[in-house]
Amino acid sequence: MKGAFCPGCGSTKGPFYRGLCKDCFLHKKKVILLPEEIKIDHCKFCNKIRLSGKWLGQSELVLKRFLKKKAKISGLVDAKLSVSLEPMKDHTFAIVKASGQIDSNKITIEAKTILKPIETQCDPCMRVRSDYSEATIQMRFSESTGLAEREKALALLMGQIEGMQGRDPLSKVVHALENKKGFDVLVGSNKAAQSVVRKFEAKFGVKAIKSFKLAGTDHNGQRQRKFTYCIRF
Ligand SMILES: [Zn+2]
Ligand SMILES: [Zn+2]
Repeated sequence: MKGAFCPGCGSTKGPFYRGLCKDCFLHKKKVILLPEEIKIDHCKFCNKIRLSGKWLGQSELVLKRFLKKKAKISGLVDAKLSVSLEPMKDHTFAIVKASGQIDSNKITIEAKTILKPIETQCDPCMRVRSDYSEATIQMRFSESTGLAEREKALALLMGQIEGMQGRDPLSKVVHALENKKGFDVLVGSNKAAQSVVRKFEAKFGVKAIKSFKLAGTDHNGQRQRKFTYCIRF
């Protein structure tokens, strides 16, 4: 474009984007939309971070992927993004670069942000720290057992455990974890776990496999045992 100049500042230095020089164009239009600061929950116990609602192990890869998703690009043709991270003392400094074309002219634009950790604890860490459990009941199902049936058995087991809470305050389900083969139900009291396992053995005509392992020492220096009951349906 011979004789072209930027109506914004009078510069004759191209290339021009929508008739403006790069500076004036970028001043007028935000091509990369990215908050100046992004707060990220960080678990102080296991070091995981929460990105888009999920707790993940920290790595450059997950942070870069997150930032590429977070940056909203507009008006750039064939946009390619790259992210660089620089860890600082109490935050991480990040630059998102977008390269592409505007009016067939190549352009590279960058946006900066700060990733600010918010110290907290993730859900599993909170559970482990606040909930004491003496036993795990592993409910294992055959592959042909549908989800509805599995959940029915789980609800029955949980109901029976909670039902004994009047006599034994530790008779509670601390956590029920689902896996491919069934559920791992963490129970506060081993006595309650034992009692409900016996009822299940009678009701379903199965035999539970019992095992235990040492789970460290308590504040009195007493060795603690953690029991596991595996019921195969
Ligand atoms: Zn200009
Ligand atoms: Zn954690």
